Amino acid sequence: MEKSINISVVVPLYNEAESLPELYEWIVRVMNANSFTYEIIFVNDGSTDDSWKVIEGLAEKDANVHGIKFRRNYGKSPALHCGFQAAQGSVVITMDADLQDSPDEIPELYRMITVDGYDLVSGYKQKRYDPLSKTIPTKLFNATARKVSGIKNLHDFNCGLKAYRYEVVKNIEVYGEMHRYIPYLAKNAGFAKIGEKVVHHQARKFGKTKFGGLNRFVNGYLDLLSLWFMGSFGLKPMHVFGFLGSIMFFLGFLAVLIVGGVKLVAICQGTPAPLVTSSPYFYIALTTMILGTQLFVAGFLGELISRNAPGRNNYQIEKAI
Ligand code: UDP
Ligand code: MG
Repeated sequence: MEKSINISVVVPLYNEAESLPELYEWIVRVMNANSFTYEIIFVNDGSTDDSWKVIEGLAEKDANVHGIKFRRNYGKSPALHCGFQAAQGSVVITMDADLQDSPDEIPELYRMITVDGYDLVSGYKQKRYDPLSKTIPTKLFNATARKVSGIKNLHDFNCGLKAYRYEVVKNIEVYGEMHRYIPYLAKNAGFAKIGEKVVHHQARKFGKTKFGGLNRFVNGYLDLLSLWFMGSFGLKPMHVFGFLGSIMFFLGFLAVLIVGGVKLVAICQGTPAPLVTSSPYFYIALTTMILGTQLFVAGFLGELISRNAPGRNNYQIEKAI
């Protein structure tokens, strides 16, 4: 379906008032030079500075500008999610508000979606202007994400500059801090053609990074684990818990055989039989049986929960004739 708007630019922002006017001018310049029809959606994620005033000012003089204002700071993922819901363009481009991403990349990103047929194109900040404390962990993180997600051609999962086909943003749910893994979310939703474009990156001009601190690595890895689980077993939790539970029961059964066997042999031979509790296998049997039961319970609960989820029958239907 052809849309009247070529491009929606979604900009999540938290306290970026100084950058906004320049970013706005730059986007408009690029759009006009390429005669794109467009809208710019600024999502103000609970800024405490003048960001919202600036957005109001821009929206007043330019009907292509829209703003969404959160009552408080929720994070980049919720901001993107709301921007995605509002977006109407046939291609949706996200970029950070801090001028680190260049709007000059937009025409090529647009071409890669509309002509080359990509579902999602992620920017790749090959040459980054960020401190080492940021770039080195990022390398590790991307290597793990590539492995776990199976998207082998991406170097920079978390790049703020990305382009999406309209259907992609309407069919993924970016929650928590999952903005780091949007390509993986898209892949789990069945959008397989994911590409990459090397993009220019600049040092932050105003303000400072909103993502400092070390706990983001721990959280980042935990999120990756959740996504892997949801993607592989989200619809069939019993397959993983039941499998692990069966292994436990099997090991427990073997241990019981050994404990019982030793006892039997001793009785048959008329030698004094050892107490079952003095054998290490007794404890192995005990633990594995308890764990096995727990795992099965987790599996049943998982099935009950997933069969009660409101979206349980929302499958991705690409076409119907
Ligand atoms: N951001 C946001 N909500 C937050 C934190 C950040 O909308 O809670 C926005 C921020 O304003 C910027 C983008 O997300 O537009 C990327 O943030 P930042 O530039 O601080 O991250 P970095 O480039 O240092 O990774
Ligand atoms: Mg930045």
